[in-house]
Amino acid sequence: MNFTAGIKGFITLVIDPVSGKIADANEAALKFYGYNYEEITSLIISDINTLSPEEISVELKKVLTSDKNLFYFQHKIKSGEIKHVEVNITPLQIEGKEYLYSIVHDITEAVKTESLNKMLKHSLDIYTDGIYWMNSDNRFVYVNEAGGRMFGCKPEELLGRHLSEVNPSITPESLANLWQKLRTDGYYTTETIHRRIDGSEFFVEIRSVYVKHDGKEYNNGYARDISERKIIIQELTYAKEIAEESARKLRLSEEKLRVKLDFILSPQIEIPDFHLTDLIDLKQLQNIQDAFTLATGVASLITDVDGNPITETGNFSGVCRLIRETEKGREKCIMSDKNIGSKAAATRKPVIEKCQSCGFIDSGAPIFIGDKFIAIWLIGQVDVGGVTRELIENYSDEIGADKTKMVKEFKKIKTISIGQFKNIVNLLWLFAQELSSVAYNNLLLAKKIEEQKEYEKNLIAAKNKAEESDRLKSAFLHNMSHEIRTPMNAIMGFSELLAENYDDKGKLVKYTDIINQCSKDLLLIIDDILNIAKIESGLLKLSYESVNLTELFEELNIFYSEEKFRQNKPNVALRINMERDKEPVLIKTDQVRLKQIFLNLIGNALKFTDNGFVEAGFKDKNDGRFLFYVSDTGIGIPQNMHKAIFERFVQVDHENSKFYGGNGLGLSIVKGFVNLLGGDIWVESEEGRGSTFYFTINVV
Ligand code: ADP
Repeated sequence: MNFTAGIKGFITLVIDPVSGKIADANEAALKFYGYNYEEITSLIISDINTLSPEEISVELKKVLTSDKNLFYFQHKIKSGEIKHVEVNITPLQIEGKEYLYSIVHDITEAVKTESLNKMLKHSLDIYTDGIYWMNSDNRFVYVNEAGGRMFGCKPEELLGRHLSEVNPSITPESLANLWQKLRTDGYYTTETIHRRIDGSEFFVEIRSVYVKHDGKEYNNGYARDISERKIIIQELTYAKEIAEESARKLRLSEEKLRVKLDFILSPQIEIPDFHLTDLIDLKQLQNIQDAFTLATGVASLITDVDGNPITETGNFSGVCRLIRETEKGREKCIMSDKNIGSKAAATRKPVIEKCQSCGFIDSGAPIFIGDKFIAIWLIGQVDVGGVTRELIENYSDEIGADKTKMVKEFKKIKTISIGQFKNIVNLLWLFAQELSSVAYNNLLLAKKIEEQKEYEKNLIAAKNKAEESDRLKSAFLHNMSHEIRTPMNAIMGFSELLAENYDDKGKLVKYTDIINQCSKDLLLIIDDILNIAKIESGLLKLSYESVNLTELFEELNIFYSEEKFRQNKPNVALRINMERDKEPVLIKTDQVRLKQIFLNLIGNALKFTDNGFVEAGFKDKNDGRFLFYVSDTGIGIPQNMHKAIFERFVQVDHENSKFYGGNGLGLSIVKGFVNLLGGDIWVESEEGRGSTFYFTINVV
């Protein structure tokens, strides 16, 4: 059969609707599908159409019932590639038999472009983080601008790159796991490390979803840079480790004591003035000292650098107690302790000395933090064989102690060999170094915590600031839309009424007036918004020129005389305070902005004053600045609103007073202009007695 011969250019297939067999195909079709004529005519349509045979037969029936003849299918060509096709099918009678005559258009490229655009738009609309689409080969097929920035390059530079190029920790296993999760759960989240184009690395949080599109699988998601969050967590973990380590050290196990500690001689941190108990809990210190006393049987006490006790003495001997009860004896004891302390501090090692009071053997080990000597651990009150009963009796006489009691207590004194005492001193030294180390670590920890607190404080402040500005922005938008909607609604409402009352001249005039007034209001509001936007964005460019103040004030005077008349305020006098006969006053400033400031201030003054005067004037401060003022005898402003009225949308709620209108933006704009001109603005006012607005500007 060769029905299609002669129709060149279009891909044409003839299909038997009953069997689905491809009965004929033209040259273009053979070229497109990649089969030769024999091959293609041995196929049935479901061999090339990706729909199931049932679905195909449902579709083709529509042709025969004339429901539809234009179809969009996906056709698989010989190479296995899927092509998007638009197929125009018409029924055709050939030799009494019904066939389907199909003209096929390849629209693959168009579909691809269109669907990719849809994908991009979807991503960009939803996310603000780095967005990516990755194909099932784990190569980027799309990255948004933010994603490019994150990796320090243009998004295009990432296209085609394999995930492992940006994620150094990716393995074939982790990729398999990723896809398994995507396929079964539909999503995948993780925290991992990514590598920028320049090789530097950063932490990211990944959230991916599984997307099947056009028969292909995609990993679509976003990557968020969480380096900062990670660093905070790392620092906290580090601080926690130090805290745990310190607690462990404080337990001072026997095994630990045998380990010679590296004494910290030159720490890098600055050491402030503090007491040992600022860094080590006093109770723990006492426990350590008591454990030592119990193990060795010698008297023990920790004092500060001036000899003041920090802990309570353990195993204090009766002899020493009696000696210290006398004034002379106590003096000698303290002197002796101090001597040991200063020698130990100077040598940075424990010293063994004969007590200057009664001749027993004492020792002291220094406790340092860095190279700062902060305490001394004293032990002793033992006899190594040099003290006799006679010596004790003589010493009792010398200091005025009770001799009998002294001798009795002397008998209880612990006698050990000097070798044994030295062993005890070695142990003491280990304890003292351990305490030094714990105190130092605690100091580091305290510093770390302090820094962390500071950091958190700043973080919270920044967050609050961002939230506040966000809040202000939405409040601004909310207020603005309200301000705009009010005159707009009136305009729309009255325009409708206008049409309805076309024949009523009186109403026509009234409504037109209202519409006019509302349009003016609307224009003013839009002007205000534009001014605020310009001030905020810093786009307002000042243009300095020579301004003749005398002329400016005369102009204002004329304008407001008319305004006064228009507002029907015969009882308000307009005054300009300048010496007319003097030379014209010339300054260099932005004339337009200065005029806008005055128009606002004088406008307000007139609005809020029914009797008395409105006065504007200036003073040359002779320091490169000018002081201007606008004064009125109007309703005044309560003290607590003097600052607030310069904020946007703030209006004083004047009780029992008429409605003055306005939108509360004028003064905030005036303040913006004054600040731009290098000056300040403030108000002095008393309720019921009038207000004076002062402002300065820098003149060149
Ligand atoms: P608006 O006048 O459009 O309400 P402004 O920002 O110019 O907005 O002024 C804010 C508020 O400050 C006014 O609503 C009014 O309550 C008060 N105010 C400003 N100027 C005067 C004045 N001269 N006398 C009394 N109140 C004033």
